[in-house]
Formats: sequence, C-alpha cells, structure tokens
Amino acid sequence: MFENLSDKLDRAFKVLKGQGSITEINVAETMKEIRKALLDADVNYKTAKTFTDDVRQKALGENVLTSISPGQLLTKLMNDELTELMGGTTADLDLKASPTIILIAGLNGAGKTTFTGKLANYLKTQKGKKPLLVADDIYRPAAIDQLQVLGQQIGVPVYANLESKDPVAIAREGIALAKQNGQNVVIIDTAGRLAIDEAMMVEIEQVKAAVQPHEILFVVDSMTGQDAVNTAKVFNDRLDFTGVVLTKLDGDTRGGAALSIKSVVNKPIKFIGTGEKMEALDVFHPDRMASRILG
Ligand code: GDP
Repeated sequence: MFENLSDKLDRAFKVLKGQGSITEINVAETMKEIRKALLDADVNYKTAKTFTDDVRQKALGENVLTSISPGQLLTKLMNDELTELMGGTTADLDLKASPTIILIAGLNGAGKTTFTGKLANYLKTQKGKKPLLVADDIYRPAAIDQLQVLGQQIGVPVYANLESKDPVAIAREGIALAKQNGQNVVIIDTAGRLAIDEAMMVEIEQVKAAVQPHEILFVVDSMTGQDAVNTAKVFNDRLDFTGVVLTKLDGDTRGGAALSIKSVVNKPIKFIGTGEKMEALDVFHPDRMASRILG
C-alpha cells in the first residue's frame, strides 16, 4: 500500500546525482519528501519538521550524499533517530510494590477495557503475577459486564460494586480485597471520558489522589491520528500519566501517532494493542515502530 521510503529516496537521490552537483537545496527537496512520508504516517507537522531538520544536519555531517546508496544510509540514519526519539529501548512497568496499583485512563472506545483484560493476562502468564481487575465505570453497566466476561475468559477475578456511585470508594474496596486475597496487582478500569468533560476529569483525578497508583496508563486509539496527540496532551496535563498504550495497530495506520505523542508529552509508550483477542498485546519496541513509520 505504501511505497518503501528507502527505495523512494534512492530514486530521488539518483535524480539529484544526475544534476551534477548536490547542494543543500537538493537536500532540502529530499527532506520535503521525507516530511511528506512522515505526515502520511500521521506524524504531526511540528514533529515531522523538527525531525527532518535534525536529520538534515546529520546527513550533511555524515556525507550521506556521496555514499553509494544514499537512500539506504539516510533511511538507517532516520531509523536510528526515530528509535531514539521514541525512547530508544522498551519501557518496563514499575511492578515492585505489592500490590502494584495501575490506573487505566482514556477516551470512550479507545480500547481501555480490552487493554485492562490483556494487561492482566500478560501479567499473569508472562510475569507470574496475581492480578485483580476493578470495574470502576459507574456510568455504563455494559462496561462492567464486558470486564467480567474478559476476567472469566483469562481466569482473573473482577471486583465490581453495582450499588455504588462512588468511583473512589469502589477503587479503594478493590484494593482492600486484593490485599485480603493476596493479589499483587490491581488494575483499575475507569469510565471513558471526553477530555473536555470537566466533571469526569475531576473524578479520575480524585481516584488518582485516593489510590496513589504506581502506574497510570493512558490508552489511545492509534487510528485517530492528530486527535490522539491532542487527547494525550490534555490527559497528561491533568493526570501526569506514566505511560501510553497505543491500540488498534493491527489496522492500516502507520503508527506515526507514537512519535508525535512521545514528542509532545514526553512519556514512554509501554504497550501496543494489535487486535481484539486477549493475546493481542505487545510490549512497545521503538526500533520496530520506527521501521513501520518509515514504511
Ligand atoms: P473502551 O471504551 O475504551 O473500554 O474500549 P473497548 O475496550 O470497549 O474497545 C472498543 C472497541 O475496540 C472494541 O470493539 C474492541 O474489541 C476494539 N479494540 C480494542 N483494542 C483493539 C486493538 O488493539 N485492535 C483492534 N482491532 N480492536 C481493538
């Protein structure tokens, strides 16, 4: 579907070489091409511009232009730079505390409940943890049902309190239950909220203040492009989250939101969702995402 950027660049450089002398202006033209590729991958304009400016400097310094395959060399340079910008290495969860408390936040439909189930499954099967899920959405009984179904599927208990309209109390009850039963991770699935909904934002701030989570993971749909970046900014300003989860990367998005979000909020991306099934969760690898963004 997308043309390989490395080939595209090799072609562009061939044209440039045909012109005899390669000047900074030629390089600027090539950078325009790269910027376009990044924008096509949903990287926001400002991030794409800063990135190409940096790469341009480096490319000139490294004599990319006189090499045999400048396209490949430049692509490698960009790959390294993108990888670095997205954190360089994988960012682990802080699971030292017992119980470790993890708060899940994000917009409605982002994939929070699905991720809550996936995370519990991952912690149980890969990390030997004993998680408890807390259904902390007091607005949509269907969301509670959904979490209970997932819990059953993966064999992880779910705490819910259908009588209560107090998310802070429900979260506290869940944590108390986990302590009582020796569960060492509590994952709190909160209600989906619109970033502009003040009352809902205050509510999740109150839950945060009450339970002092070790991790606050912001779940965002990678298909929403630029909106993903704006939402991330609003949630980070309010919650100072500890990591990002990018969902729906099994779709045809190139995943540029990963780079934009990292550069705007400067928080690590910790996981990616790659499908609806409970196993469709991967730890985020910056180098793999860099290759994907560059196509
Ligand atoms: P919530 O409102 O944020 O809790 O979102 P849900 O967890 O209910 O997810 C909304 C929809 O997105 C559901 O149909 C999920 O099956 C789907 N979904 C969640 N994560 C992924 C993913 O990584 N890939 C795909 N293809 N679908 C996903």
